[in-house]
Amino acid sequence: MKLLFERSRSGRHQSLIPAPGADLPKPDSCILRARPPRLPEISEVDLGRHYTELAKQTHGVNDGFYPLGSCTMKYNPRIDEAAAALPGFTGIHPLQPQETAQGCLEVLYKAEQLLCEIAGMDAMTMQPAAGAHGEYTGLLLIRCYHKSRGDAARTKIIVPDSAHGTNPASAAMAGFTVVSVPSNADGGVDLEALRNAVGSDTAGLMLTNPNTVGLFDENILEITKIVHDAGGLCYYDGANLNAIMGHARPGDMGFDCVHLNLHKTFATPHGGGGPGSGPVGCKAFLEQFLPSPRVRKNGENLELYRPESSMGKVRSFYGNFLVVVRALTYILSLGKEGIPEASAGAVLNARYMMHKLRNAYDMAYQGPCMHEFVMSLERLKKDTGVSAMDVAKSLLDYGIHPPTMYFPLIVHEALMVEPTETESRETLDDAVSVFLELRDKAQNDPQYLHESPHNCPINRPDEVKAARSPLLRYEFK
Ligand SMILES: *Cc1c(COP(=O)(O)O)cnc(C)c1O
Repeated sequence: MKLLFERSRSGRHQSLIPAPGADLPKPDSCILRARPPRLPEISEVDLGRHYTELAKQTHGVNDGFYPLGSCTMKYNPRIDEAAAALPGFTGIHPLQPQETAQGCLEVLYKAEQLLCEIAGMDAMTMQPAAGAHGEYTGLLLIRCYHKSRGDAARTKIIVPDSAHGTNPASAAMAGFTVVSVPSNADGGVDLEALRNAVGSDTAGLMLTNPNTVGLFDENILEITKIVHDAGGLCYYDGANLNAIMGHARPGDMGFDCVHLNLHKTFATPHGGGGPGSGPVGCKAFLEQFLPSPRVRKNGENLELYRPESSMGKVRSFYGNFLVVVRALTYILSLGKEGIPEASAGAVLNARYMMHKLRNAYDMAYQGPCMHEFVMSLERLKKDTGVSAMDVAKSLLDYGIHPPTMYFPLIVHEALMVEPTETESRETLDDAVSVFLELRDKAQNDPQYLHESPHNCPINRPDEVKAARSPLLRYEFK
């Protein structure tokens, strides 16, 4: 496909508003351009077609099934977009006087209250811009806590080996040493290994529950107790709250702080690197350390304030505000009944697909799964030569986005499927029949799978190169 600069023809303009007749002051010569910018010249209709063609080359939730595990690529209701587009929200300036921004402060205040209720926490900051950023902020909370008690020896964060890759990375960035604990045969935390790992140097534990193999760890109360008894704090990675929201709360499982991914569970589309939000909630005893500013009630009004021993800022202003607007709209439109219904649907859909596929594909763990499940294609690869990558690439030909591949690391030839609650039974049945067809093809025509995809704009790019050295700028000859 041609790039905009290749379509450009000199002198081909779109219609422009005529230049004003008035004599306008010129900017200072030191900031004046020496020559006009090299912008492509293209008609409006060709420009529209260019972007439509580009859009057709990708796969989004509006194109088809998108079961990308650990990512919750569910449908985000349009009403949330409509709310985030209201001029009162988009036309605001972050430095505007507080009395003129009471509505926006109310969004932050209400979102904090409702998300705290869902997570079982007492206070929450909306500042972190993504999940990993939330983890980092939560770990700083843990550090502030130990430091405030003069306990400098607690330098280690315990992370199970099934954890999302961001967990050990965030712990290391926050200055901690990472201690990995193995999972047991059922996919949960090995309690004996955890007991052996904790000690007077334990700052805390980071855990996802349900974990990255889609299982709810039933020992969770014992796990958080072991860490607390050793003097550590418990951090809950709540990126995937879609499995439990409205049914179980990290705060009730013994966790002291948590982050939520609003761009997974709470109605902000993601995947293209757009704005995210990873609010961090905590129990009351950690509130004093939260990033500044926070919103509180002062009589009839809302005001910003700096918590007593605040860690400072982790991002400019109040975080990605419009993402918070979407989350608040989502929660209010679903209500107290709709929130648990959504997570129940997410779990039901995953269990349904897992059940339909378990005779054709090996499941890494027998379950019952929560919002996602992990298949291992190790045996299939041994028998037929067809890998998880081959199956994933072939799904593209059927209009299905591949599941997450080769993650979690503890499962070989992993495909991690997260259907989400917004898919109909028909969509799930169609996807199941594609998976079954590919299983047969692996047996009868493995070459077909090795060469997949057959009908996509590109075949198999060098993925490392595409990620590490992308060409994002047009190179003028
Ligand atoms: C997505 C995810 C994260 C990281 O979230 P980002 O917003 O991508 O930084 C962390 N933990 C888990 C379990 C996740 O699924």
